[in-house]
Amino acid sequence: MTDNGIGENDEYEKVTMYQCIWCGKLFKTDRLHKCKFSPKMCNCFSCRHCRGVDEITVRPFDNETRDVELICGIGKLSECAVPVREMAERHWKLACPKWQQLNDYKGKDSYMYHIVWQIDKRRAESE
Ligand SMILES: [Zn+2]
Repeated sequence: MTDNGIGENDEYEKVTMYQCIWCGKLFKTDRLHKCKFSPKMCNCFSCRHCRGVDEITVRPFDNETRDVELICGIGKLSECAVPVREMAERHWKLACPKWQQLNDYKGKDSYMYHIVWQIDKRRAESE
């Protein structure tokens, strides 16, 4: 308490936020977020077999996700490409039987590093 009787902390409300360990976003609750980068989803984002993104379309279907297909390195491209839209409709839970976690997987950063940047590198090399 200070001399005027008002506690120093009375002007502040305590705010508790939760940060997703997989994508780094902040949330007000730790219950609602279904993270597409969580290995629990067994989807392409955290899978070592993912070979990147096929045919990026310009149509976004929500604020942050473009309707792209992720290429599976196991199956043939056309049979095993999984549209991001399809994963989104399943709330990212793909439960793929062939899923294996990417080495040293740490969430979105690993996906960006191992999958997205590698594609850019391949593209740059082929030009
Ligand atoms: Zn997340």
